[in-house]
Amino acid sequence: MTSISSLVRPEILQLRPYESARSLTKTLTTEDEETLFLDANESPRSPLPLLGLNRYPEPQPKKLLDRFSHLYGVSPSSILMTRGSDEAIDLLVRTFCEPGQDEILICPPTYGMYEVSAKIQGAQIVRVPLQMDLEETGTVSLRVQEILQALFQKKSIKIVFLCTPNNPTGTALDPSDLVRIFEGTRGRCIVVLDEAYAEFANIKGEAYAEFAPPSSVTQALPQYPHLVILRTLSKAWALAGARMGVAIAQEELIQLLQKIRPPYPLSTPSILSALEATNPDHQEMLKLRVKTNHLERENLKTELLKICPVRRVFSSATNFLLVQFHPSHQIFNFLKANKIIVRDRSTEVGLNDCIRITVGTRDQNQRLLAALQQAGL
Ligand code: PMP
Repeated sequence: MTSISSLVRPEILQLRPYESARSLTKTLTTEDEETLFLDANESPRSPLPLLGLNRYPEPQPKKLLDRFSHLYGVSPSSILMTRGSDEAIDLLVRTFCEPGQDEILICPPTYGMYEVSAKIQGAQIVRVPLQMDLEETGTVSLRVQEILQALFQKKSIKIVFLCTPNNPTGTALDPSDLVRIFEGTRGRCIVVLDEAYAEFANIKGEAYAEFAPPSSVTQALPQYPHLVILRTLSKAWALAGARMGVAIAQEELIQLLQKIRPPYPLSTPSILSALEATNPDHQEMLKLRVKTNHLERENLKTELLKICPVRRVFSSATNFLLVQFHPSHQIFNFLKANKIIVRDRSTEVGLNDCIRITVGTRDQNQRLLAALQQAGL
């Protein structure tokens, strides 16, 4: 048994995956008019001829796979495309966590879906909160020793979920801490590194003004068969409505996820919009968006700090700011009454009175600032 197959649920290891019609015709395309496809009970006519929506899409479209392979610098066999990265989180939990028996480890405050997916699967949650040295150094970091100790004590922990830059703090994790976790978990459990906001941070995890290679650990993949990296088109690529996520790992692990993914996870309009948005001409627009976001975020941060009820603005390597108010609930309600919707994070571990605010356009940010000035009066 390899180190990965010893971690996977036995039911999944033995599972014979469903073979959809299009998975059996991989080398053929429904765009080819010479081939007659009478195998999938599709309608022979399209209501919208240009999109070819009467046909099932390729389960993992080759053109998009090649695009992502180029974009992320990994081989196509290391990639699974999912309905947003939320679906990848769910697939991972279902692949590795036996209901009522296994656990996941998370470092709150962090993205909420790791916990929700685990609970749906009947897996327990082990929490090792982030170290938040806000008064002294202003840093947010992993408690590496405690994480490794928890793994040593509990063999039932099957997945460690880490997020960098982290939602909702906006801060990036220290790359050397990540390496300590990758090393310490080898052969022991799966590590999922959620890089949903990677394009907004440089390789050192710092926010940057000019686009540079994103903060990603994809180069480390060949060393770690138990590592999964999650990317998404929902953030810097501005394509949240397309629901396109990417899981990147060594082939053995990707093959396991392929077994349990839905037969046709990606819709044709999503595939077409992802191909369009990531084509080389449009990649310049990504750089511009990242640069504009940096400018607007830092400007918003400076202006927020001038406003009376703002106590602290966390440093951010993302497209949002975590802001501590005193107190937050009145501010939240005031903004809501003024039709400005932000995210209340005040009930999260260590985030008393914190609100998460997405960076908008210059005009949108001005509207928010004007409302906050009024709220503070
Ligand atoms: N990971 C993180 C850290 C997120 O913040 C989000 C969405 N807010 C997701 C994953 C899910 O993204 P999507 O399903 O849109 O790819």
